[in-house]
Amino acid sequence: MDAACRRCKADLSLLVAVEETRASELVRSAEAIMANDGDAALQHAETAHHLRADRDSWRRLATAHLLRRDFERALTCRAAAL
Ligand SMILES: [Zn+2]
Repeated sequence: MDAACRRCKADLSLLVAVEETRASELVRSAEAIMANDGDAALQHAETAHHLRADRDSWRRLATAHLLRRDFERALTCRAAAL
């Protein structure tokens, strides 16, 4: 993948690496949810969320909190995702 800006040729490889790490953390979080492992789901969701917060990471956090039966945080994250 070309990681240089098309306009100014700035090296964007660090940004690309951050996005790749974030995507894989979201996948790991989904896998943990399917394995019913709320702690791991939350850990991976938080890592992804800190790299870049968006609607998907808020939703993933909400699901992880639900799995851990932390309903208050689940509602807060769900509201942030809307
Ligand atoms: Zn540029």
